[in-house]
Amino acid sequence: MDFSLSSAQKALQTEIITFAQSSLNKDVWIREQQGTFDHYLWKLCGEQGLLGLAISEDFGGRGLSALDTVIALEALGYGCEDNGLSFAIGAQLFACMIPIWLHGTSTQKAELLPALCAGERIATNAMTEAHGGSASFDMQSEAIKAPGGYRLTGVKTYCANAPVADICLAYFPTDAEKGFFGGISAFLLEKKKHAFGISETLQKLGLTTCKTGKITFDQLGVRNEALLGKAGAGGMIFTQSMQWERIGLSALHLGSMKRLLENAVSFAKQRTPGGIPIAKHQAISHQLAEMQAQISASKWLVYYAAWQLSHRHQVQASSSIAKLFTSETYKAMCLKLVQIYGGLGYLADHEASRSLKDAVAATLYSGTSEIQKNIIARGMGL
Ligand SMILES: Cc1cc2nc3c(=O)[nH]c(=O)nc-3n(C[C@H](O)[C@H](O)[C@H](O)COP(=O)(O)OP(=O)(O)OC[C@H]3O[C@@H](n4cnc5c(N)ncnc54)[C@H](O)[C@@H]3O)c2cc1C
Repeated sequence: MDFSLSSAQKALQTEIITFAQSSLNKDVWIREQQGTFDHYLWKLCGEQGLLGLAISEDFGGRGLSALDTVIALEALGYGCEDNGLSFAIGAQLFACMIPIWLHGTSTQKAELLPALCAGERIATNAMTEAHGGSASFDMQSEAIKAPGGYRLTGVKTYCANAPVADICLAYFPTDAEKGFFGGISAFLLEKKKHAFGISETLQKLGLTTCKTGKITFDQLGVRNEALLGKAGAGGMIFTQSMQWERIGLSALHLGSMKRLLENAVSFAKQRTPGGIPIAKHQAISHQLAEMQAQISASKWLVYYAAWQLSHRHQVQASSSIAKLFTSETYKAMCLKLVQIYGGLGYLADHEASRSLKDAVAATLYSGTSEIQKNIIARGMGL
C-alpha cells in the first residue's frame, strides 16, 4: 500500500472540501434544530458527483475505487459540518446504491442508478425490525409466495432517509428454515409502483437532518421482477452492503474528527483563563495528543479495509475492526471535547455538543459495537 496520496487523490480531497465548506455549511444549526432535510442541497451534492462516488460512470457515478471513495468521504466529513446530511449520503450509497449496482439487473440499474446519482430520487434501506433488532434474521415480517411474485407484510424501523425516499430496498424472509443466508430475499421497491407506507420522522438525539422513519408493508403485492438478485440472496447482499457501509461511514467520521481536533487545538492555544493558554496544561495537551494518535490509528484501519475492498479481499473482519475502533474513538473524543471547551462546549449550538449527539449513533448503526466484536471474535474462531 502506498502511504502517500496521488495527485489525483489530493485533487479529489481539495475539490470536495472546497465544495462542502462553501456550499453545505450555511444554516446547519437551523437545519439541525428544525430537522430539515434540504432537497436543494441533496441535488447540489448529486451535481457535484458526491452521491455516486463508487458507482460506475456508465450509471451516472464517478467510478471511484473503494479506497478513493473513502478518501472522498473523509474529505466530505472534514468539510461538511452537517453530519446528518453526510450520513444520509453514506446510507443511500452503501446500503442502497451499491447493492443495486452489484446485484441489479441491467434494467434495475439503468432505471434507478442515474437518478439516484443525480439526486433526483432518494433511497432507503429497510432491514431492521423492532422485535429482532441486531438479530436481523429474527424477522416477524412475511413474504408469502403469490402467482408471479410475493405479498409482503411487516414493519421495518429506523430506516434512514425513509420519510423522503421514493425507492426502498427491503429485506424479507422467503424461506425462514434456510436461515439468514438463503432464507432472506431483497426486494427493490418504487413508491410509484408499490404502495408502502412511511411513518412520520422518528425524533432522534442527533443526525436530525437525516430523516428517519418506519416503513409499513400491508400485504403489498410485488412481482418477481422486484427481487434484487436471486430469491434467497438477501442475506449475502445485506452483509456485503454493511461491509461497504462500515468502511465508508467510518471515513466520514475520520474527516469529522480531524476538523474537530484542529478546531480544538486552535481553541486550546487561544483560551487563556488566568493568563495561561489551556494548551499549556498537560491535562489538556495530553488529551489532544491522544486524540491525534487515535485518529491516525483509525485512519489506517479504514484505509486498509478500503484497500482490501478495492482488491476484492475478504473484509468481514477488517471492516468491523475499522468501524468498531473509529466509532468508539469518535464518541469518546466528542465527550472529551465538551470538557476541553468547558461551558462553551455544553452550549447547544457548539460543534462539540452537536457532534457528540451525532457520534453516539455511530456505535449503533451498521451493527452496534457489540455486534462488531461478535464478528471479529467469529473471525478468530471464537
Ligand atoms: C441513526 C440510525 C440509523 C439507522 N439506519 C438504519 C437503516 O437505514 N436501515 C435499517 O434497517 N436499520 C437502521 N438502523 C437500525 C440499526 O441497524 C439498529 O439500531 C441496530 O442494528 C441495533 O438494533 P436495536 O436498535 O434493535 O438494538 P438491540 O439489538 O435491541 O440491542 C440492544 C443492545 O443489546 C446489544 N446486543 C444485541 N444483540 C447482541 C448480541 N448478539 N451480542 C452482544 N450484544 C448484543 C446491542 O449491542 C445493544 O447494546 C439505524 C439505527 C440508527 C441509530
